[in-house]
Amino acid sequence: MTSTSANALASEALKNSSRAVFWSDSPDAPPTLPTQTGAQAVDLVIIGGGFTGLWAAVQALEDNPGLDVVILEAKDCGYGASSRNGGFCEASLTHGFHNGLSHWPDEIDTLQRLGNENLDGIEETLARYNISADFQRTGELSVATEQWQLDELHEGAADYRAAGETIDILDAEGVKKLVNSPTYVGGAHRPDGTALVNPAQLVWGLRAAAESLGAKIYNNSPAVDVQIDGSGLAIFTPHGTVHCDRAISATNAYPGPIKRISNWVIPVYDHVLMTEPLSSEQMASIGWQGRQGVGDAANQFHYYRLTQDNRILWGGYDATYHFNNSVSERHEDSPETHRKIAGHFFETFPQLEDLTFTHRWGGPIATTTKFTATWGTSHEKRLTWVAGYTGLGVGASRFGARVALDLSFGEQNERTELAMVRKKPLPFPPEPIRSLGVAITKRSIQASDANNGARNAWLKLLDRFGVGFDS
Ligand SMILES: Cc1cc2nc3c(=O)[nH]c(=O)nc-3n(C[C@H](O)[C@H](O)[C@H](O)COP(=O)(O)OP(=O)(O)OC[C@H]3O[C@@H](n4cnc5c(N)ncnc54)[C@H](O)[C@@H]3O)c2cc1C
Repeated sequence: MTSTSANALASEALKNSSRAVFWSDSPDAPPTLPTQTGAQAVDLVIIGGGFTGLWAAVQALEDNPGLDVVILEAKDCGYGASSRNGGFCEASLTHGFHNGLSHWPDEIDTLQRLGNENLDGIEETLARYNISADFQRTGELSVATEQWQLDELHEGAADYRAAGETIDILDAEGVKKLVNSPTYVGGAHRPDGTALVNPAQLVWGLRAAAESLGAKIYNNSPAVDVQIDGSGLAIFTPHGTVHCDRAISATNAYPGPIKRISNWVIPVYDHVLMTEPLSSEQMASIGWQGRQGVGDAANQFHYYRLTQDNRILWGGYDATYHFNNSVSERHEDSPETHRKIAGHFFETFPQLEDLTFTHRWGGPIATTTKFTATWGTSHEKRLTWVAGYTGLGVGASRFGARVALDLSFGEQNERTELAMVRKKPLPFPPEPIRSLGVAITKRSIQASDANNGARNAWLKLLDRFGVGFDS
C-alpha cells in the first residue's frame, strides 16, 4: 500500500476514536481513594503511585510487615505511564540486552540474571496476591522491514547466544508465518524474557496488594514540598503533612518535589492507538497465533501487540520532547503523530484496511542519557529517588523500587554494588541546548533509518561518549 493511501485510511479510521487510555477506560477501575489531610507520622512515605511506588510499598511491607507506609499519589494510582504503556513486561533492566552490554560489559551477566529473577518475581507476586493482569510469557519478535535491519539482527544474535539466550533469526517467509505483513524481510524471535500484561490491571492489583499489607494510599494528594524535620522528614500535601523517617520519590517523568532529578531525567511523550477487536477473518489474515509482542528493528520503532479481546495496540515511533522538561495533559493528544502512526499501521497490515481505532492517547516516558533508571538521594539521604527507565519500565520498575528500598534502608548487596546503580549517567545539558540536542539527535536518527542505518558524525560523537536519546 502506498503511504498516500495509508494516510487517507488513517484519517478515516481515527475519526471516531476517543481520547482516552484504553486500559483504564474500564468498568473494573477501582474507586478513587481518599485525600491526605491533617498531620500524621509514619515510617516510610512513597511519593507517586505508579508501578515504582506500588512495588516499593509491596516489597517494603513484605520485608518488614510492621512498617507504617503511606503512598501519596498526585491523581489516581496509575495515572502516569504505568497505565498508559504497551504492557511489554521485559526481563531486561537495561533497556534491552545490547544497551546493557554496551554500557556495562563486565556486569552484563549479573544484570541479565537479576532481570530474569525480577521477571520471575513479578509472576510470583501476581500469583501470591491473585492479581489477574493477563500476564502471558509470549516472547518477542523483532521485525526487519529493510535488509540492513535484518543484517543488524544477525550480527546481534551472536551476543545473545554467547550470553546463553535463545534467539532464532527468521527469513521473510519464517517471520510471516508468525505475523503476516507484506513489509517484513525477516526478523528475530526471542521466546523468553518478555511477558505481556494488562498494565492497568497490574496497577489495580498492586494497589490492592499494598493495601492488604497495610499501606495507606492517598489519591489527589501531591507532595508539594519536602523538608528536614528533626531526625526525619516532613512531606507537605495541599491539605496536610506526613512526618516520616524516610521517603522514596517515584514520580518518574513527572516533576515531583525533588527538582534536581531533571538534571538526569527528561520526559518524552510517546503515543499509542488501540483498534477495535478484530473479527476471526481479520485474525486469520494476520496469523499471530503465538501472540508475541512485536517491535520493529529500525532506530525509530513501532511496538505492537494483541489484547485479550484481539484488538491491536500500536504505539511508538515519534517520541517527542517538549521544551524545559514540560509535562502536561495537552501533550497527550497529538493529531499529527496519531495520524502518522495510524498510516504506518495500514502500511504494515493492508489486509486490515476496514479496521478503525477506538482509543488514542499519549504519556510521558522518563529517559536518561543511558536509557536506564538512575537513583539518587536528597535531604541528608533521608529521601531516595529513582527514575528514567525509558520505554522499558513495566518490568524494571520492580527492580528500581527494590534498589530504592536497599538504598533507603542502608542495605549493601549485589544490587547496590552495580555500576548502573552507583554511577549516574551523564546529565542532560540545560535549556536551550537540551532541546537543541534532542532535536539534532532525533533528526540524525531519522536520517540513519533512511540511510540503511548509517550513523552520521553527530550520532558517532554521542556513541563515543556513550549517550543518546531513545524512547
Ligand atoms: C505510551 C507509553 C508506552 C510505554 N510502553 C512500555 C512498554 O510497553 N513496556 C515497558 O516496559 N515500559 C513502557 N513504558 C514505560 C513504563 O510505562 C514506565 O517506565 C513505568 O510505568 C514507570 O512507572 P513509574 O511508577 O516510575 O512512573 P509513573 O507511572 O509515571 O508514576 C509516577 C506517578 O507519580 C505521580 N506524581 C507525580 N508528581 C507527584 C507528586 N508531586 N506527588 C505525588 N505523586 C506524584 C503521578 O501522578 C504518577 O502516577 C511506556 C510508557 C509510555 C508513556
